[in-house]
Amino acid sequence: MRIPEQKIDEIRQSANIVDIISTHVQLKKRGKNFVGLCPFHTEKTGSFVVSEDKQIYRCFGCGSGGNIFKFLMDYKNISFIEAVQEIADFIGYQLKFEDNNKGEDDVLEVLYEINLTAARFFTDTLYKSNDGEIAREYLKKRNIKPQVQKSFGLGFAPSGWNNFYDHAVANKLDLEKTKLLGLIDKNDSGKFYDKYRGRVIFPIFSPNGRVIAFGGRILENSDNAAKYLNSPENPIYLKRKSLYGLFHSKEEIRKLDKAILVEGYLDLISLFQNGVKNVVASSGTSLTEEQVQLLSRFTKNIIVLFDSDEAGQKAALRSIEILIKSDFDVKVALLPKGEDPDSYIQKNGKEVFDDFLSKSQNFLEFRLRIFEERGMLSDPNEATKVIRETVRIIALVSDKIKQGLLITTLAKKFNLREKMLESELIDYINKQSDQKKPLKETSSTSSFGKLELKNNRDKSSTAQTEKELIRLLFSGDNEIVSAILHDIEPADFTSIIFKELSRIVVENYEDGLIAPAHLIEQINDSELKDYVFNLLFNEEEISPRWSELSHNGEIKKDKIEYAIDHIRKFKVVRFNEQLHELNKKIGETTDSQAIYELLKSIKDMEEEKRRLMSNSKNNNEI
Ligand SMILES: [Zn+2]
Repeated sequence: MRIPEQKIDEIRQSANIVDIISTHVQLKKRGKNFVGLCPFHTEKTGSFVVSEDKQIYRCFGCGSGGNIFKFLMDYKNISFIEAVQEIADFIGYQLKFEDNNKGEDDVLEVLYEINLTAARFFTDTLYKSNDGEIAREYLKKRNIKPQVQKSFGLGFAPSGWNNFYDHAVANKLDLEKTKLLGLIDKNDSGKFYDKYRGRVIFPIFSPNGRVIAFGGRILENSDNAAKYLNSPENPIYLKRKSLYGLFHSKEEIRKLDKAILVEGYLDLISLFQNGVKNVVASSGTSLTEEQVQLLSRFTKNIIVLFDSDEAGQKAALRSIEILIKSDFDVKVALLPKGEDPDSYIQKNGKEVFDDFLSKSQNFLEFRLRIFEERGMLSDPNEATKVIRETVRIIALVSDKIKQGLLITTLAKKFNLREKMLESELIDYINKQSDQKKPLKETSSTSSFGKLELKNNRDKSSTAQTEKELIRLLFSGDNEIVSAILHDIEPADFTSIIFKELSRIVVENYEDGLIAPAHLIEQINDSELKDYVFNLLFNEEEISPRWSELSHNGEIKKDKIEYAIDHIRKFKVVRFNEQLHELNKKIGETTDSQAIYELLKSIKDMEEEKRRLMSNSKNNNEI
């Protein structure tokens, strides 16, 4: 389904962010904003601020923020379209979908329907049929309580080649689509047959609870059948983007601000049943960046809990790297030999399990232990490799203090000079940043270094004027934005950040979309987004006069005048800079012809500058 941008903007403008958020979070008025306890991280004092005039929110604790759609998406874990729909419902807006895309949306709906029919068939078979007995016995042996079986939607696919196929035909399911979902397949003679036979079925849910795929575990040992059979990728199931169990565990993960990552379906279900409910499983694939991205909506703290066999160790090492890259705080717990999370918690109970988890190691200790056990640290060549590789991973840690502490630990462990490891680290970081693509002005996904943003906090008058103009560009006032864009182009700004931000405004201005609540969601780079949030929420700090004007809702003319004043200041500063450059060149050259040319340019410029100044005086008098 595709909803036109303008319509989305209309819906956003008709709803009040304070009304929507206060149905979920208790808000108190403070100044012109509203403040409450952040629903996205645990806190005792409110750092969650909602701005009614800008229609955006921001948590100064965990950094989440955005417009009304972003809030619902994150709070309820729903898609953008679902959020738009929900707000449309809230304000009683009739959403009509564009016809040309309706078809595509219907196809997805049909796929969800087929999965749901299949899921019901498998559960019915598990509980109501004689065929299901063997699976009921199996689950009983695994100690999974009926109630938990039901809440995870477990089922059974009987052996035989056409049990589900017959059911699909009887229910008039679209067979080609059913095949696309991996539930049935076609043999050489063109006959359909069941893909899942004699398997316990674990439905895989999307974060908001729809069945998107199935995992099936074989019950009877058979040489030519894989132990697990998983749905193939299809339009509603992208393996690398889904995490098993998240639908069930997301609330607890958010509450505890911590997740436990396990490998298998049964590990997760068993922990869940024993009261450990903040678990997800990456089952069927090694952890991907997209899965980590998904999880980061709920927490950035994770304990990787894998088997201690070699496969488990390998998977843990690989996962650590992906998690650290995404700024997670990573701990690792390896179970005693021969145990998996399921067997361990069933044997020992929750208390012992919690105690075991509390002793998990940070990723550095874990890595070194693994390599030590493999005897790699006693061989100088191997040890060097391990140290280099570890420094490479430490380089991924974004928190500089943490990075320093990890280097210290590593140095101590090998009795090395810390300075040496530090320079290795810096070399590595520099090499990395050289490899990054040069920043293109037109790219909206470019990544802006912290350094650049820090430089931008300088107090020079150019920087301050430019910053103020950017803030005005995000004011949502059409007259002001028009005035600035009439005189100043993105390329005129000196800093690459301001170039990029003004470019985003220009692009959206052309479509008539300049509300801050719209613009903020058009910024892809997270640091850049943070920068704008701070700009929008700290306006008092920046310009006492502007805030006075907005507070009292004073005469519009004053605001325009204020903006024009800054446009002029900006242009004058740029002229002065150029004049300075020209004067410097005069001092450096001895060629009289060149000096003559330079003096002529200076004269032209000063005239231009005078004209600008007098224009602005006239403007002020009108
Ligand atoms: Zn927060």
